[in-house]
Amino acid sequence: MPSLIRIFAMNMKHKLTLLLLIASIGLASCASRADDKARHTDNRSNRQTTPAPFDADSAYAYVAHQVSFGPRVPGTAAHTACADWIASQLRRHGADTVIIQQATVTRHDGKKLPIRNIMGQFNPSSPTRVLLAAHWDTRPWADADDNPSMHNTPIPGANDGGSGVGVLLEIARQLGLKRPDIGVDLLMVDAEDSGISGEEPDGSSSWCLGTQHWVENHPYTAGNMPRYAIVLDMVGGTDARFHRELVSQQAAPAIVDKVWALASAIGHGDTFVNEPGAPVLDDHVFINGAGIPAIDIIENRNPATGSFTPVWHTMADDMSSIDRRSLRAAGETTLTLIYNEKQ
Ligand SMILES: [Zn+2]
Repeated sequence: MPSLIRIFAMNMKHKLTLLLLIASIGLASCASRADDKARHTDNRSNRQTTPAPFDADSAYAYVAHQVSFGPRVPGTAAHTACADWIASQLRRHGADTVIIQQATVTRHDGKKLPIRNIMGQFNPSSPTRVLLAAHWDTRPWADADDNPSMHNTPIPGANDGGSGVGVLLEIARQLGLKRPDIGVDLLMVDAEDSGISGEEPDGSSSWCLGTQHWVENHPYTAGNMPRYAIVLDMVGGTDARFHRELVSQQAAPAIVDKVWALASAIGHGDTFVNEPGAPVLDDHVFINGAGIPAIDIIENRNPATGSFTPVWHTMADDMSSIDRRSLRAAGETTLTLIYNEKQ
């Protein structure tokens, strides 16, 4: 994951977001009414919506397999091996097309990073598409760890990196078993998590480098742009709570309403808390910048921290921090949404 957005240090790309955030202050009462409406919708759909099959044990195993490679820091052997494995899983589960976008990006300290964005497409010829995305790289530094001697050590990245990809690979497996009516693109983006903690440089963001490259080089035409995009990030935390992330709320409120209402309707209303969340600088910010309405499912109001999970950017972000119930809530909601989407 990324950082909480610091409103007063935003660069040009984020000024739109800043305006949206400012607008949100005046719209708080309207948002409350929208939430009430969403809750009523929940009640109506509660009796009608059947959750799609989603195996949380399988998603958990996909997270564990990523962690077994070691930290997936760009430029390392573990990173390359994990990329090959992700692509192989997409092919194994029947993705019609697997696009591997290789590039070199420059980290904030000048280091050149070899990156791979990996996208599996189901029904690639369908003009009606939904994009699901997660970052697969992991942070090179445990700079939030209580132990300062760990601050230059790479994190295991079970939740931060592993969880979103684990859910997407289980979704790939399910899509292989039952094809969706629409086109679905599963995008694993690289180099999300090498940014500067707590600050934003002028000119360009140090975060989400893989997505920044992807939005400049995405494979879509005007005729097959995704209807919307959902980013899954840090969706596997213990007893996770996904509040309505604020950039998502401002950029794509109808999608947020739809996802949170569906989550409630299929029994995940305790995880998808229908309350405002914090603004987070994550891959969805840049996907929105490409003209695709994008939201972020991310834990961002943990009761112990007031922000991300307690293991965020620490050495404790290992498999012991992964909760199958959280993976299931995120995956079942997203997959049910996909199967309900019509041409
Ligand atoms: Zn992170």
